Amino acid sequence: MVPSPSASGVPDERPTAVPAADRRTRDPLSGTVAAVHQIQETLFDTLELLRQSLSLRTCVVLVVDRERSALKIAEIATEAEEIDVGPFGAADGVAGAAMRAGSPLTMGNLRPDYRGLPYYRGPLHVRSFMAVPFRDGEEWRGVLVADRTDPDPFGDRARGILVRAAERVARTIQNERAFLQLERTKREQGQLLTASERLSGAIREDDVVEAALEAARGLAAIDFGAVVACDDRAQRFLVLRAEGERAEELGRLSFEDNQSLVAIAARTRHYLPYRGDFDDANQAVFERKGELRGMNSLLVLPLVVQEKAAGALVVAARRRGAFRDDVRPLLQVLANQLATSLLNARMVRRLAEMATTDGLTGLANRRVFDAELERHVKSAERYRKPLSLVMCDIDFFKRVNDTHGHKVGDEVLKGFAQVLLACKRDLDVVARYGGEEFAILCENTDTAGAKLLAERVRRELVQRPFAAEAGAFRVTCSLGVATFPVHAQNREDLVRLADEALYRAKHSGRNRTVAA
Ligand code: GH3
Ligand code: MG
Ligand code: MG
Repeated sequence: MVPSPSASGVPDERPTAVPAADRRTRDPLSGTVAAVHQIQETLFDTLELLRQSLSLRTCVVLVVDRERSALKIAEIATEAEEIDVGPFGAADGVAGAAMRAGSPLTMGNLRPDYRGLPYYRGPLHVRSFMAVPFRDGEEWRGVLVADRTDPDPFGDRARGILVRAAERVARTIQNERAFLQLERTKREQGQLLTASERLSGAIREDDVVEAALEAARGLAAIDFGAVVACDDRAQRFLVLRAEGERAEELGRLSFEDNQSLVAIAARTRHYLPYRGDFDDANQAVFERKGELRGMNSLLVLPLVVQEKAAGALVVAARRRGAFRDDVRPLLQVLANQLATSLLNARMVRRLAEMATTDGLTGLANRRVFDAELERHVKSAERYRKPLSLVMCDIDFFKRVNDTHGHKVGDEVLKGFAQVLLACKRDLDVVARYGGEEFAILCENTDTAGAKLLAERVRRELVQRPFAAEAGAFRVTCSLGVATFPVHAQNREDLVRLADEALYRAKHSGRNRTVAA
């Protein structure tokens, strides 16, 4: 084992030649530093495993430094004694060539005077190598180099393994960098922790979004922030919340899947724009150019969960270069947490919807109706206002099912629900009371008013054709009306009397309204 400087190019003051496995026991390390060492051990283990299984002499990860001028060894597993620990010129040798080519490089039958492998100090004992470049975001970050004494070029299987290993290495190094970033800025770490706690504690979507934007403000100096949700069935985006300049116009904005930065970031699941540099005259964030005038930095981070984008976190700043590599990883961690919390909140909302609405028609269900009835009766009592209940039941509905099938029957129920929603007034409550029985609760409405509403429903339904294989058909309904307090003085009686009126409507010929 040879020195392994930190992969991120951060100076490492510890003695160099300490094997990875010994480091943790020697240094009293903070949690983050310990995590970084854990990552380095993982990296070493990966390289050592590759070395043994592919009969390599050396397996090494070289990374470019911040200025992109030098290459350093991030980790190395080798049986060679004479290792040059670098740093090396970033453009030199196989590493520079592989990054320039942007694809793996393999070579066999190397001559002893070959100079492309910079980490060997002594004579070259190896005869073939493979160099696989890897990225961190958009930039080439380093190269995984494997060499061996066998002169034949690496075969397909070994090449496949090394390409996959390079992807893993890239992720490991990204993780390490993210961790070191955290260590460097304890304040930010604290903020992320708080944000994460708040995010995972938030149940409602609004709270999640608010917590995320607050955390974003803490992590970076931003002049604008927004959270956008995407609805992948409808292929639309909705700004859930916007803060800062122009927040009022942009909050609750709804837009189509388009060529904006938000839409592209969601599609590609990659942050935009490059390096966070923004030109509002030529780039549309949501819908059109010029939406965030005066902002010179922008970051659109897709909210990705299980390979799918649920939306985006958008932050902008007037300052140039506000979201470079020192800030972006933190915001990415935040975006990841936001994504998970947002999906949880949505799931909770859907469960709540399922508990209160009827799945077929989307109307309030019986449970909601009972609660609303109780509330309305109390309020009618207190304010001495009439409250009417209209009970509706489709006539000969069994026949619809028997003649046209259950599916068509369901369509009739949905159609009837639409009729009810179209006829009801703003304050009326419409619910699916049971199978093909529906109820309308009319606040501040006497019997005459409720009868008018009932008749409107009846006429609308009669006029509505329903499609079936045998041809279009129509259905009718019967309605019963009762009013508090003239007919009934409590809610049980109100329901009973409306039901009895409905029964009379049925028995006096159907397709009519009868009042108690
Ligand atoms: P009436 O005029 O006396 O009301 O006659 P009807 O045939 O409508 O009689 P009833 O109200 O007793 O029949 C209700 C039928 O509604 C029975 C049931 O099969 C059907 N039904 C209840 N819920 C659903 C549903 O969700 N979908 C479908 N397709 N049918 C339903
Ligand atoms: Mg019926
Ligand atoms: Mg019925």
